[in-house]
This record gives sequence, structure tokens and C-alpha cells, in this order.
Amino acid sequence: MSHVLIIGAGGVGSVVVHKCAQVSEVFSKITLASRTVSKCEAIAASVKERTGVQVAVEKVDADNVAETAALIRRIKPDLVLNVALPYQDLPLMDACLETGVDYLDTANYEPPDVAKFEYKWQWAYRQRFEKAGIMALLGSGFDPGVTNVYCAWAQKHHFDEIHTLDIIDCNAGDHGQHFATNFNPEINIREITQRGRYWEHGEWVETDPLSWSMTYDFPEGIGPKKCFLMYHEELESLVQNLRGLKRARFWMTFSEQYLTHLRVLENVGMTRIDPVKYQGAEIVPIQFLKAVLPEPASLGPLTKGRTCIGCVFKGVKDGKAKQMYVYNICSHEEAFREVGSQAISYTTGVPAMIGAKMMLQGLWQRPGVWNMEEFDPDPFMADLNTYGLPWTVVEL
Ligand code: NDP
Repeated sequence: MSHVLIIGAGGVGSVVVHKCAQVSEVFSKITLASRTVSKCEAIAASVKERTGVQVAVEKVDADNVAETAALIRRIKPDLVLNVALPYQDLPLMDACLETGVDYLDTANYEPPDVAKFEYKWQWAYRQRFEKAGIMALLGSGFDPGVTNVYCAWAQKHHFDEIHTLDIIDCNAGDHGQHFATNFNPEINIREITQRGRYWEHGEWVETDPLSWSMTYDFPEGIGPKKCFLMYHEELESLVQNLRGLKRARFWMTFSEQYLTHLRVLENVGMTRIDPVKYQGAEIVPIQFLKAVLPEPASLGPLTKGRTCIGCVFKGVKDGKAKQMYVYNICSHEEAFREVGSQAISYTTGVPAMIGAKMMLQGLWQRPGVWNMEEFDPDPFMADLNTYGLPWTVVEL
């Protein structure tokens, strides 16, 4: 019986609240807090209608450590589940330290003025979390998140050494909009427009943004799609935690239409993250762009098709070469029917709920700051099948 404080009433936040409400034997009390309380109220109303569960709502500015700490002291949650933006990771970890409460997020910290995400800022909290006897679980979404758990599971059961890892993220869905992002547009565009990076023979190799591509033939009728090499945050921890790894890469599918719009927006300066003067005021172009693009949460009823995210491993088991693919396919329409959100929010929100469940049930509990692959993957893999993200494994 636990009380979870969920922070961030966006696309992912909505799924997490709905999924926690479905598991009331673990999440006996749910509070949703965000900057805009009306968004919390709308989510709480949907949860009440779908599950009958009453969700408490609060207003909080998660950038303000004192304000969050005061909220935590007042409502006394057992866990803070952060699905606001990566900018809020450090202030929320500070608030957890101040109040002695466990922490979970789905994306690593990123400073607002530099488009650069790295675990170093959050890993720097390790000793303080250990000393306080509390735990932080980093990156409990799909990628990072489930992809890390797939790796831990492959390493535990199927390989003596994993030599190459390719994480491949395919969104074969369509929302019918000229241009929209499936999660927070500012975070999404910052991620996609940065330089590519993969890891080979102990070193990081950089590539120009979206300059490398391959065509991958996705299973179960999705078919061949063009995928682009990108840097993605889970690579940073996985290269430290997988035995014998020689190469690790991350790929994502983009349509020509998406890439053309992105190129134009970049060329005209609309993806800039530095402030520019406009009519006497300072505005950040990418933040203005976010304001005119569709809200990711609004894409739920519009999106059709499926996502397919998985890991391709090559390595050795008992002296024999082996190649294996573990993946999940998620339907946008089915996710919408179940919780009123498209599959990108769904595939992030379900693992966030499962990560929190692992911690609250004591299955994953250790003071310090941890990445997903550092825990036993088996109970998490079992819960993926139970709570809406079943996986398939094939030997290639
Ligand atoms: P949204 O923009 O839809 O939602 C973010 C929410 O956080 C908004 O409701 C916003 O409130 C709230 N928020 C922002 N700043 C603050 C603040 N200072 N205090 C309180 N609340 C705040 O984003 P998504 O739901 O799409 O994404 C949420 C997180 O999930 C992101 O960190 C994203 O990177 C991560 N993610 C992870 C994935 C994974 O697989 N690991 C995949 C997809 C997303 P308001 O509306 O009032 O501004």
C-alpha cells in the first residue's frame, strides 16, 4: 500500500496515472501535480471515469525545490515519479534528498541552455542518495527503460558476451498532421538535431546529425523502414554494464515529410535554443515553436498504426555465435482505447509505472542512483507482459 506523487501532467503523465490506477493493490494513493492544475484535473476526471479511482491533484513548480519539498512534506508520498521535463530532474532529486523520498524518472537531465543530455549530473548524486538511504531509478520509460531491461535479460539468460547492440525505434504510425512530435516537441527536436554518436571498441564515434541510415525490415507486417543513427542516452550506461561489448548504436525511423519540415525549421532558425529579441522581449525560438505545434497529448485520437521498438544483439553463448531480436509492438489505436493516449506516451508511461511498482514492492530496492539494467530484469519482463507491453524474442 503506497502513495505515489506523479509530477508532470503531459502525454506521458496521463498514461502513468491511468496505469497506476489500474494497479491499486500497489498504488493505493495517487497524487498528480504539475504546473497547470487544470491539466491534472482533466486527467483525474478521465481516470475516475475509466477506473473509478480518485486521484488527488496539486499545483507545483518543480523547478522550485522548496515548493516541491513543502508539497512532499505535506502529502507524504513514498515515491516521487518524475514525468515532467528533463530540466526538472535535478531540482526534483534535490527535493527528494531534502525529504528522504525515493525518486524515478524517464529521461536524463539536460541543462536548458545547452542541448546536451548526459548522466553525469545525476550520477553525481549517488553518494548523497546512498547516505540518505534513498533510491533513484533513472530512465524508466521505453528507450531508455525497457531497452535497458531487454539488454539485462539478454545478458542474464541468452549470452555469455554481447558483442554488438543495435537499439531500433520504429514508429510506423501516422497522425495525419503536417508536422508534430509524439512527445514534448522541445525535448524531441533538441534530441534529434544534435550530432549522432555511437560506441565502438571503447570509444565514442561522432556523425553529422541524421547522416547515417539503414533500412530495417520490421516484423509482423510492419515491413522495411528507413532508420537513422542517433545518439541516445541509454547507450551511456549500457556500454558500462554489458559484458564484452564491442559496438552499440541507436536507430530511429523518420518519414521524409518529418525530415523535410525539420530541415526547413532548422534552416530558418526556429529550432534555436538561445534567446532572440522580439518586439522588445526575449523569446527562445524552439519554445515558441512548441507553442504553435500540436500538443503530443492531442495526437491520441488522430494516430493510427503501430510502434515497434527493440534490441538486436549479436554475441556468443557456450562458445557459439548467436543473434537475437527482442521487441514490442504497440498499437496507437489500442493504447488510445485503453487510456486515451497514443502509443509513444503509452510505451513510456507503462514502464514508468512498472519501475515504480518494482521499487514499492521492494523487488528493486537499493540506496543510491541506478540505471535500469543494474537490477534483475525478470520481474520487470514479466510485468511488461501483464500490463500492456508484451515482448517477443526471435533468434535471427
Ligand atoms: P509534455 O510536454 O506533454 O508534458 C510535460 C509536463 O510537465 C507538462 O504537463 C508540463 O506542465 C509539466 N512541467 C513542465 N515543467 C514543469 C515544472 N517546472 N513544474 C511542474 N510541471 C512542469 O511531455 P511528455 O509527457 O511527452 O514527456 C514527459 C517526459 O517523458 C519528458 O521528460 C520526456 O523526455 C520523457 N519521455 C521519455 C521517453 C522514454 O522512452 N524514456 C519517451 C518519451 C518521453 P505544463 O503543461 O503546465 O507546461
